[in-house]
Amino acid sequence: MIVISLGTNLGNRLDNLSRAINLMSERCLKNLKTSIILETEAIVPSDAPNNWNKPYLNMIAVGTTNLPPHNLLHELKKIEREIGRPKIYDRWSPRIIDLDILLYDDVLINEPDLTIPHKELYNRSFFLHLLALLNIFPWSEQREFKNTFTKTLTLYPKFVGIVNVTEDSFSDGGKYNYVEDACQQILKLSKDGASVIELGAQSTKDGATIVSESEEYKKLDDVLTEAEAFIGEHKIKVSIDTFRSEVALRLLKKHDISIINNVNGIFDEMSLRQIANSACNLCFVHSLDVPVVSNRVMESNSTLIRDLMSWQDMHIERLLSLGFDEERLIFDPGIGFGKTSYQCINILQNLAKLRSANCRLMVGHSRKSYMNTFSEEKIPVNRDIETIANSLSILDKVDFLRVHNVRDHMRAAVAYQSCQ
Ligand code: ADP
Ligand code: MG
Repeated sequence: MIVISLGTNLGNRLDNLSRAINLMSERCLKNLKTSIILETEAIVPSDAPNNWNKPYLNMIAVGTTNLPPHNLLHELKKIEREIGRPKIYDRWSPRIIDLDILLYDDVLINEPDLTIPHKELYNRSFFLHLLALLNIFPWSEQREFKNTFTKTLTLYPKFVGIVNVTEDSFSDGGKYNYVEDACQQILKLSKDGASVIELGAQSTKDGATIVSESEEYKKLDDVLTEAEAFIGEHKIKVSIDTFRSEVALRLLKKHDISIINNVNGIFDEMSLRQIANSACNLCFVHSLDVPVVSNRVMESNSTLIRDLMSWQDMHIERLLSLGFDEERLIFDPGIGFGKTSYQCINILQNLAKLRSANCRLMVGHSRKSYMNTFSEEKIPVNRDIETIANSLSILDKVDFLRVHNVRDHMRAAVAYQSCQ
């Protein structure tokens, strides 16, 4: 059994961890199991520059390998550099990623370039705490490690935090309609552990006011411009929720956008080709009408899942022919968009069938009205308990969960993972 520690305190820390885990499992570690993530204060010498004191995210990964210890170290260093760690750096300076071998079976090595067990293993209580949570005890006494973290997070699934820069969105309409409030929420959601921040400036609920194309663009542009420095420093991934290709294309020209999320399914061919030519991902959502028209829903309950599967296949095929590759496509079955409440639940029960090998799956069920079928809570903003409980039932069947309340989701997902 091999135990690797991962640490990061620069850039998009969750993304750094996620990339390192993916590269390690592709190249040098099999049967990987990952711990939760602990945020800790940086360990720096007392005379270190102020800007070195940035909080770390730490986690461990446990697996098996065919590589002998020195070769494994070599591979890990290669991955560090690929993610962006320079070859030469100051000893305690912030780092994009640090990959260390904590344990390698029962092997003991004490050489200038490699010490196993890692020489800090018994000095850093957060290492020991993470090991104990995975039931690994390379020490004999009964100990409890207290105050080992300031915050806990998890890598799976990825949370997409919603910020609606609108007057009338169904749950947070009016809250983030001003640039400053929207920027504050971007900051909060990313601190809470959102992997992506999704901005929208046009509500899609039944009866929503339609804002003009130029107004929609301006609102999104203003927020992105105001938050530019923060987004850049933390390499925050931004998704734009729009069904207007002009808005999407204009923003793509000016800002670094990670995902275009179109609740109206698909754009025209020319726009799609242009998005395909950028590096941006595309989320295509199944819907019947945008804005939603109440009572216009999918016709057949019995073929609902099959119908969604064929709709997905058809669109993947078309998008591939227009220049996208599979890694850049995300399918969202569109909870609440042209489905009865029972159909929404049916979709959540059958996500495994909708998770095609050909693209990633996003689900956006947060606070939606299908919850009226099992909850007496009528006010969307009060439906986080129901939302989170539903999220836990589907955690391992999705790639992205699109939610309003990232903080509480993260708390629940960490608790869930800790006892799995
Ligand atoms: P840190 O001590 O913060 O991990 P580095 O990642 O720069 O700092 O590591 C410095 C050196 O420590 C590496 O170049 C590596 O050769 C050496 N080293 C010794 N033991 C280990 C180990 N168990 N895992 C990873 N690196 C190790
Ligand atoms: Mg290291």
